[in-house]
Amino acid sequence: MAKTKNETKVDGERELTFGGVWNYAPSPEGIDHFTIPKRCELFVGGEWIKPKTGEYFATVDPATEAVLSEVALAGDKDVDAAVKAAQKAFVGWRKLSGEDRARYLFRIARILLERQREFACLETLDNGKPIKETRDVDIPLAAQHFFYHAGWADKLELLFPGQSPEPLGVVGQVIPWNFPLLMAAWKIAPALAAGNTVVLKPAETSPLTALRLCEVFQQAGLPPGVVNVITGDGKTGAALVRHPGLAKVAFTGSTEVGKEIQRAVAGRSVELTLELGGKAAHLVFEDAALDQAVEGVVRGIFFNQGHVCCAGSRLLVQESVHELFVDKLRRRMARIRVGNPMDKNTDMGAIHSAAQLARIRELVGDGQASGCELYQPKCELPKKGYWFAPSMFTGVTMSHRIAREEIFGPVLSVLTFRTPEEAVEKANNTAYGLSAGIWTDKGARILWLAERMKAGVVWNNTFNRFDAASPFGGFKESGFGREGGRQGMRGYVRLQGGLLPG
Ligand code: NAP
Ligand code: MG
Repeated sequence: MAKTKNETKVDGERELTFGGVWNYAPSPEGIDHFTIPKRCELFVGGEWIKPKTGEYFATVDPATEAVLSEVALAGDKDVDAAVKAAQKAFVGWRKLSGEDRARYLFRIARILLERQREFACLETLDNGKPIKETRDVDIPLAAQHFFYHAGWADKLELLFPGQSPEPLGVVGQVIPWNFPLLMAAWKIAPALAAGNTVVLKPAETSPLTALRLCEVFQQAGLPPGVVNVITGDGKTGAALVRHPGLAKVAFTGSTEVGKEIQRAVAGRSVELTLELGGKAAHLVFEDAALDQAVEGVVRGIFFNQGHVCCAGSRLLVQESVHELFVDKLRRRMARIRVGNPMDKNTDMGAIHSAAQLARIRELVGDGQASGCELYQPKCELPKKGYWFAPSMFTGVTMSHRIAREEIFGPVLSVLTFRTPEEAVEKANNTAYGLSAGIWTDKGARILWLAERMKAGVVWNNTFNRFDAASPFGGFKESGFGREGGRQGMRGYVRLQGGLLPG
């Protein structure tokens, strides 16, 4: 990471004027003026504080490589201060009635929606994803998580009848860069609804919306220390999960780091939930509505540049329609508009970081070297920034790396099957188990398949649909624990007594 020492005092805000020096045209959704602080501090105990390390790092716009802001790098002492602030706040927060906690959460949700455009712009700039996705998916869904969980805050006794649900204490939460605000909402909303307090560590390359969310907390009058946000790198995350003051760790990210975290909490009385990687199978049967399936498959892999843990990255097509379906896909892919993420007509934005682009290139190179056939529609990619064209490999078998490893980019691997039994076998032949998709006209077949697929979420004749009320999470190397729905709330309470299983 690029670190900067706190030598020069940088104050004020950096102005982004659309259509001006930043060349962001047309103005997204009527916003023509936008400010980002030149320097972002840590949010601890309800205040913005300078890091004790004295160090800052840059976060960039992946579409232009321009530095958006310098962000505080939290070290061990900062982590400790944040956990202590959360411990102090826990005393009062847990005593509030559920109804009062709900009021705060409803207020946060409402303010988020009022500031939706600003959050959408900021997320798109810091992450590289298209404005139509941040505007229509990320921000509204983040608000929905606060609304939904506000609804549980005063109904915990109904949710866990006779089991005296109690909050756990301070929760340490570490999140990735692919849905920065949404992941923050997924983690913070249920934790607060259940009466816990939080220390959140956003990803190093996309910290800006989690920091701006702290402004919303202030605006909503959330008591100081109930949520603390500390920015930094992997070391900051590691220091947080090791801190003895935590009652729970909730992590979303790579399987590799998930395993490290599991080792870090081993032997301690700390609850743990892990949401990790995926390599979802997307099944298309010959009787499916093929044109609709094409749309689903395109959405399944190219949404958010394929930086989606549950992306439908392994397409399994029934052999009888393979050629026809691949031909339809090629034609549809040629119509994907790649470019300026701030343009509301853009379908696919920038790859999130240089490191992620290098990983995508490495795996695509491996696919080509192993004899798989690559298709990329012609598209002019900008010179500056990190870009990759939508890509599809045919002639892939289960032994290829591109069929086994998570690419986390806009790359589809196409395989074939003949019978439903073979489809299930191939779909489950992976170390992961997060999601899967099925396209067929036969309801009975959907039920038969869904029962046999080892995946936390199975979508039928749709893909990448999310709702705060439905639990999300994986099996095998995709992690454990659920987020969303009743099951998600279970991860944030301690149950005492009662006859019902937890
Ligand atoms: P990552 O490298 O695992 O990072 C995730 C977070 O952990 C970041 O905040 C990271 O900080 C931090 N971190 C790094 N090393 C750490 C350590 N030793 N201890 C504690 N925290 C540490 O993953 P990523 O590259 O950001 O995200 C991509 C991965 O996340 C993919 O594999 C994807 O499938 C998975 N993902 C899963 C879900 C899900 O719900 N299952 C959702 C989204 C993403 P830095 O940013 O500084 O590295
Ligand atoms: Mg960034």
